[in-house]
Amino acid sequence: MSNAKTDSQMIKRLFIANRGEIAVRICKAAKKLGITSIQAYSEADADMLAVRLADEAVCVGPAQAAQSYLDGDKLVALAKEAGADAVHPGYGFLAESPDFARAVEAAGMRFVGPSGDVIERMGNKIAAREAAIAAGVPVVPGSVGSLAHIDDTLEQARAIGYPVMIKAAAGGGGRGIRIAENDDELRLLAPQAQSEAQAAFGDGSLYMEKVIRNARHIEVQILGDGESVVHCYERECSLQRRRQKVWEEAGAATLSDAVRDHLCQSAVDLARAVAYRGAGTLEYLYDDASEAFYFIEMNTRIQVEHPVSEMLTGIDLVAEMISVCGGAPLSISQDEIRRHGHAIEVRINAEDPMMQFMPFPGKVTGLSIPQGEGIRFDHFLYEGYQIPPFYDSLIGKLIVHADSRLAAIQKLEEALGGLEIEGLKTTSPLHLALAQDEDVKAGRFHTQWLEPWLDAGKLSQTQ
Ligand code: ADP
Ligand code: ADP
Ligand code: MG
Repeated sequence: MSNAKTDSQMIKRLFIANRGEIAVRICKAAKKLGITSIQAYSEADADMLAVRLADEAVCVGPAQAAQSYLDGDKLVALAKEAGADAVHPGYGFLAESPDFARAVEAAGMRFVGPSGDVIERMGNKIAAREAAIAAGVPVVPGSVGSLAHIDDTLEQARAIGYPVMIKAAAGGGGRGIRIAENDDELRLLAPQAQSEAQAAFGDGSLYMEKVIRNARHIEVQILGDGESVVHCYERECSLQRRRQKVWEEAGAATLSDAVRDHLCQSAVDLARAVAYRGAGTLEYLYDDASEAFYFIEMNTRIQVEHPVSEMLTGIDLVAEMISVCGGAPLSISQDEIRRHGHAIEVRINAEDPMMQFMPFPGKVTGLSIPQGEGIRFDHFLYEGYQIPPFYDSLIGKLIVHADSRLAAIQKLEEALGGLEIEGLKTTSPLHLALAQDEDVKAGRFHTQWLEPWLDAGKLSQTQ
């Protein structure tokens, strides 16, 4: 892992405004940088692992996220009271809220991420599309600005060509997305999507994109210090269910070196155009046949799947984002960033894959974690831990690294065999079945591959 510089850095006390595995990850990065960690927690999370690991901990409020991890005013006040000089938002919750970033800075602390203005520009998908077009980065053919009157929406959809995808400008986590095949469906779905987006994200603005069939999801990890921007190569996250990532790799199985260079450079150009600070990801759809890529969105935060890029390049992305936020320059230049071998992450969710992925919160009665070179398990579990039912079902991420993609899949299979989480149902059997699947081994998949595979009962056949 790289040595993010600590000498010039001003952060001494870091407030962690998140929970779960990412809170643990941030705590560990703080420790490595010699920074005191102050962990926020809800009443339902008093015994979570990050509370035990952090130097200090502060209760924010009741279990409901709206009254704890989403209560920006409360979090800022508590961070200030605890003498924090910076706030790390993790992912989800307030990580992409420009208002939260601004409130943190207005209270005299640093926000570990870009400024509120940059979040507003790049975190809003309509604005980010415009920024991409301005920077010469190809986008999916789609609507202009946010959708207004239905007549105009219908006209734009006909020009784009059905089927179209209706998306929320503030959407995330695969939610708020609808596909319309024709005028009638669009008339029906657009108002539904709008009220859903308003309720889920507090912003009902919508836009449309042409549906790119059988595309791969490929994204580029970038790091910026407000002046320089570097990329840490690409990840492929095509194995998805309900537009949520299930299995992620670094790098992408089928990308040629020429396209990889072009793609990564486009991400750097776009991030540089907004003088990006922090860790960020530019997401694209990629069509194998034409080798064309289309920008879809930017996530202005650390992502769930960042560990595969860390394993690929040896860079500690979380330490790096904290250190640039403290005012240090990036500790690495582009020509020092090399890719080695191949890394894969699988998301271990407390869900029963044999029962339509029904959430399965419960008590961890036994825990055995695989060890070994090139194996990493990012999680927040311990024996006796009761997983609260109020939040995301992600409980851990198993990450493997090996010399080649096939060796990594082999290592994943072995590591999954050594992962025992007793007392819960998890998505581990799904990953084992995928690791043994011939199409997965050959890299023959795209974003619409996994759902039909599940519908065909492939999972139960392999049990
Ligand atoms: P990644 O791109 O890092 O894989 P995801 O899109 O899966 O991230 O989202 C990471 C987490 O953040 C998930 O728990 C997801 O539910 C949550 N999330 C992402 N964006 C939003 C948003 N706009 N509003 C609420 N939750 C979000
Ligand atoms: P979110 O913010 O919820 O992550 P994204 O815009 O990143 O939303 O899209 C999530 C997923 O939906 C993508 O990874 C891809 O599988 C699918 N998707 C998004 N846009 C399109 C499109 N225009 N055509 C086909 N699939 C798409
Ligand atoms: Mg996305």
